[in-house]
Amino acid sequence: MLESDIRSILKCVRCGACRSVCPVFEEVGWESAGARGRMLVAQGISQGLEVGSGVLESLNTCTTCGLCRQMCPSGADPTGVVESLRHELVSQGKMTDSQAKLHKKIISSSNSLGDVSDKKKWLGERITEVRKTAEYVYFVGCLGAYRYPETAALTFDVLKQFDVTVLPDEVCCGSPLIRTGFDADDLIAHNMEQIRKVGAHTVITSCAGCYNTLKNDYPAGFDVIHVSEFLSEHLSELELKRLDLTVTYHDGCHLGRCNGVFDAPCEVIKAICDIKEMTTNRENARCCGGGGGVRSGYPDLSLALAKKRLAEVPEGVDYVVTSCPLCLKNLTEAGSDTDVIDLVELVALAMQNL
Ligand code: SF4
Ligand code: SF4
Repeated sequence: MLESDIRSILKCVRCGACRSVCPVFEEVGWESAGARGRMLVAQGISQGLEVGSGVLESLNTCTTCGLCRQMCPSGADPTGVVESLRHELVSQGKMTDSQAKLHKKIISSSNSLGDVSDKKKWLGERITEVRKTAEYVYFVGCLGAYRYPETAALTFDVLKQFDVTVLPDEVCCGSPLIRTGFDADDLIAHNMEQIRKVGAHTVITSCAGCYNTLKNDYPAGFDVIHVSEFLSEHLSELELKRLDLTVTYHDGCHLGRCNGVFDAPCEVIKAICDIKEMTTNRENARCCGGGGGVRSGYPDLSLALAKKRLAEVPEGVDYVVTSCPLCLKNLTEAGSDTDVIDLVELVALAMQNL
C-alpha cells in the first residue's frame, strides 16, 4: 500500500462526516458501502484482511465522486485510497467479474463500448473538413463517438471555425480502466502519439472522465481544457442569440469537484438563457452515479443514484444541462421528466449561423 494511503488511513478519526454525504451509503445503508467503511476496509487490508467478494464490493461500489475527500475535516482522502486499492488488488489478480469483462472489452476494441465499427463514423461528410494539423484537437471520447454522434457532430461544427481538428485514430482515453484499477499505458501512448502528429498544443474534451484522465493521468506535453472552457473564452465570437428558456446545470463530479471547472459552463449558459440551481451544486453537487465503474459494475445502484440526483432538479426548468455524456446517459436512463441535454446542444440552439 502506498505511503500516502497509509497516512490517509491514519488521518481518519472515524467521525462519519463522509458517511453523511456519501451517495452510495445513503442508497445502500451498509457501513461498508460508505466512505468511512471503505477506510476501515482499507485499514483491514493493510493489516492482512483477506480480500473476498465483500471487500471487492465495498471498494468497487464507490463512484469516485470525491465528495468524501471534499468534506473530510481531517484531510483524509477516501477517494484516493479506494482508487489505489483497486489498482493494488487488480495487480494481484483480485477483481470482480465485471472489472475483468470491462478490461477485456476495452483492450480488444480500444473503446469503452466494445464497438469495433469506425470511431469516426459520426463525422459523416465532415470528414473532408478535418485538418491534418491544428493548434487544438477535439477529443471526442467513446460515448461521444458511439452513443451521441449527433452531439459530437454539433461540437465539431461549433469548434471548426477555430483552429480545431480531431485525432486521426483516437482510442479510449483510458479513464474506465484507470478508475477501475487497471493500467492504460498502451492507450495513453497511442493517443499521445496521435496528439504529437497533429501538433496540437491543447486538447479539448467534452466528457468529464476524458478531461480528468487526460489532465491528470497523461504525461505532460499539452494543455487540456473542457469544451465549456473553450466556449466561455470565445463567447464574443460565437454570436449567440438569447433564448427564452430556463435551465438547470448538473456539475459532473470529475469535471467540477475533482478539477474545479464550475464557472465556465455556467458562464456559457448565462450568455444564452436563465439558470436555476439544483439543490446541491458546485463543490457539493451530488453524483449522478455513473462514474468509477459503478455504471458498468452495479447498474441498478448507478440508476438509483441518478434518480436521487434528478430529485434535485428545480421546478419550472426547460432542460437539465450537463457537460458530460456519462452524466447525460445516466440521468436520461434514470427517467428524467425534464429533457437532459449536453451544453453544446444548448449552444447550438443559440448559434444564429449553425
Ligand atoms: S474519512 Fe474523514 S470524514 Fe470520513 S470518517 Fe474518516 S475522518 Fe471522518
Ligand atoms: S468518492 Fe463518493 S461514492 Fe466514493 S466513498 Fe467518497 S462520497 Fe462515497
